[in-house]
Amino acid sequence: MAESRGPDHPRTEFLPFARPDIGPREIAAVVEVLESGWLTSGPRVKDFEAAMKARLGVAEAVACSSGTAALHLAVEAAGLGPGDEVIVPTFTFTATAEVVRYVGATPVLVDIDAADLNISVGAASAAVGPRTRAIIAADIGGFPCDWTGLRRLAQVHDLVLIDDAAHALPATLEGVSVGHWADMTALSFYATKTLTTGEGGMLLTDRAAWADRARVMRLHGIAQDAWNRYGEHGTWYYEVVAPGFKYNLTDIAAAMGLVQLERLDETTARRTQIAAMYTTGLASVAGLSLPGATRADSGSWHLYTLRLAPGTDAAGREEFLGRLKAARIGTSVHFIPLHRHPYYHEDLGFRREDFPVAEREFERVVSLPIYPSMSDRDVADVIAAVTWAAE
Ligand SMILES: *Cc1c(COP(=O)(O)O)cnc(C)c1O
Repeated sequence: MAESRGPDHPRTEFLPFARPDIGPREIAAVVEVLESGWLTSGPRVKDFEAAMKARLGVAEAVACSSGTAALHLAVEAAGLGPGDEVIVPTFTFTATAEVVRYVGATPVLVDIDAADLNISVGAASAAVGPRTRAIIAADIGGFPCDWTGLRRLAQVHDLVLIDDAAHALPATLEGVSVGHWADMTALSFYATKTLTTGEGGMLLTDRAAWADRARVMRLHGIAQDAWNRYGEHGTWYYEVVAPGFKYNLTDIAAAMGLVQLERLDETTARRTQIAAMYTTGLASVAGLSLPGATRADSGSWHLYTLRLAPGTDAAGREEFLGRLKAARIGTSVHFIPLHRHPYYHEDLGFRREDFPVAEREFERVVSLPIYPSMSDRDVADVIAAVTWAAE
């Protein structure tokens, strides 16, 4: 029986699902900040914003304390509030939708496309009503949504488009970089993401008025930032113009981010290489559906989410995950659809029967480890374990 055979080459050490790739350059950059006497938002944050603008070619970049903060600043800058509806896919992390509640607006969850697990433009279109003001869509795993379809829909109904690009740095869509697909884009620098500062995020936009508002709201609604206030050219005077938030990024984090951004091509190349090794190594395993681009794009390979045979139920997926654990391979599941969580189900009233695609695909998805510090041997171990577990 397969259970007693195990993978051909059992590992002695557990392979974690995710591990940040922090090298000597990140460590040196952080130490330099610690020794500089300036820890909070200062020159490194300004450098990090400038470097991201140069890299992506966006007009405005507002560094903040998390991807969630960037999304919150986006919906706030867009002026969304009570009575407004915002369309959000159900197959995402709760941050995508919770920020809509932060400003008192109403998230309207919609189903996804089976092809790429991203928001279904058809479902979004069907959900547009007289109160709809915006769409927030996430590029799941780093594969861009159908932004052409979303832009068309947004134009017809005069909606603000917000890209939850927490997974998408540095993906491109038909040659166009992340940061240019929607009206506003939120990046995340959480520990597992393609570029990390431990915690951190950035709001990108080409519209100066939104960026100015986000910069004010990022720091207590103060019209100038702390660097201007306390630097050698600063003054003691400041004005509070709104009840803002405490969402600024530290120079400690930004120093890490600058190095990570310089290394992004190298780390993305390794992720892409690992994805190709998985796709080649798992191609002949019966029943599996492997991830890949569904339109003319290049993904960031933040996730490698395969799908088990159609019709696999929760118990079947659990057994598969158990076998990978026995083979000492860490895995994860992205994502539990939002409508299944108590808050969205019980408090907001979303029901499973309204999301047939997300319901079906959720039970089949399994995310494999994919990060730059994995060795070729680690990748081979995952392929052997998945091949065995899928028997
Ligand atoms: C990680 C993530 C976020 C939030 O990012 P934080 O930096 O952790 O706040 C938002 N949306 C999605 C889809 C994510 O995976």
